[in-house]
Amino acid sequence: MNFLQDLWEQKMAEAWEKPERYIREQLIQSVLWAKTHSRFYKKAYASYQDNFTLEEFAQFPFTEAKQIAADPFSFLCMKPDEISRIVTMQSSGSTGQNKKIFFSTADQQLTVDYFQYGMRTLVNPGEKCVICLPGNNPGGVVDLLVKGLSALGAVPIIYGSIDNLQAAWQFLEREKPHCLVAMPVQILALCRSRFAPKQFYLPKILFSADVLAKSIVEEITQKWQCTVYHHYGMTEMGYGGALSCFDDSFHMHTRAMDLYFEIVDVQTGQLLKEGEMGEIVFSTLNRRGMPLLRYRTGDMGRMKKKLCPCGYKAPVLYDVQGRIQNSFAQHGKRIWQKDLDEILFSFAGILDFQIIIAGDRLQIQLYKNKIVLPEGRIKEKLNALLGSTWQYDLLLTEQEKDLPCFYGKRMIKWEKAMDG
Ligand SMILES: [Zn+2]
Repeated sequence: MNFLQDLWEQKMAEAWEKPERYIREQLIQSVLWAKTHSRFYKKAYASYQDNFTLEEFAQFPFTEAKQIAADPFSFLCMKPDEISRIVTMQSSGSTGQNKKIFFSTADQQLTVDYFQYGMRTLVNPGEKCVICLPGNNPGGVVDLLVKGLSALGAVPIIYGSIDNLQAAWQFLEREKPHCLVAMPVQILALCRSRFAPKQFYLPKILFSADVLAKSIVEEITQKWQCTVYHHYGMTEMGYGGALSCFDDSFHMHTRAMDLYFEIVDVQTGQLLKEGEMGEIVFSTLNRRGMPLLRYRTGDMGRMKKKLCPCGYKAPVLYDVQGRIQNSFAQHGKRIWQKDLDEILFSFAGILDFQIIIAGDRLQIQLYKNKIVLPEGRIKEKLNALLGSTWQYDLLLTEQEKDLPCFYGKRMIKWEKAMDG
């Protein structure tokens, strides 16, 4: 078992002695494989040379989610019986076509190796890790995380999505885990719940599946004296994408052995300078079932290529804002759901909220516990963020059962298509 782990470290050490060379060599292989085996890349990349520099690669065509949805099988690079896992993802568009992502057994093992490697920062062999994420299909993210933790010698325990705070607390007090893997808003609700014990020993939390607000991290680290980590990933990446540095929850080491990241301008598609905010684009370096090249994630963020202060040699992602649809703009000022997270979650009574946009008016539906909210102060902060451009209504609902409201990635709801 330790063999794999050592192999990963060794591969990593070798690869990152000359990172640019490693990336280029793997990319060339990946492009060649995709061009030879998939109908899509055969056509899309036909006129591009096989031996390229990273600068030249930045001019290669993008892959977009809608292209996968339109014909997922055109991306397939293996025979269907060599595929061990197919993930069908509901499309958010109106075409009704669903994206399919294919993985071979070896592709899935890459994720297990990555999870095993990444989780070593959080748990030691023998320690319990409770997973509060939804779903437990074979080959899904929870299943692969369990495999990675088991390979590490840790003790994975699946709890699932937290929907009843009292039951979740009973479970945690009984199991006394060393580490929790969960969604930020659910843990904030847990932390703020009346069922929370006065003291709780929980050294490590890994947040995943949603953007992470500083206000949430501050409250949780203060109450539980724990270290908070953040993971960024998506199914298309093979779930794992980047994991925060032990030094800083908001700086995430990219999974550079398997993925090559670029940050591009949303409008022009051109590469941005280091540190500029843009769309996160990735290419798979080692996947063979369904390699993805220059895949536009629809997520925004920034990237640093310099060495992380901790010594990690691969690029670091930070300021990841989530989906572009999770923002709204007018007169050049863009506001993100995360900006509202920072303001609203800093008030102790708020458990969750939903933004509904209709025309130039926002409806902010707040879900609260029994604590009386200082509405005047909330409005002051909202006015400072929204300025005079956006009118808004604040709606308050008390959650009778003390449950958080949404499961999974929280999204802004658009009543009418409008963006600027
Ligand atoms: Zn670091």
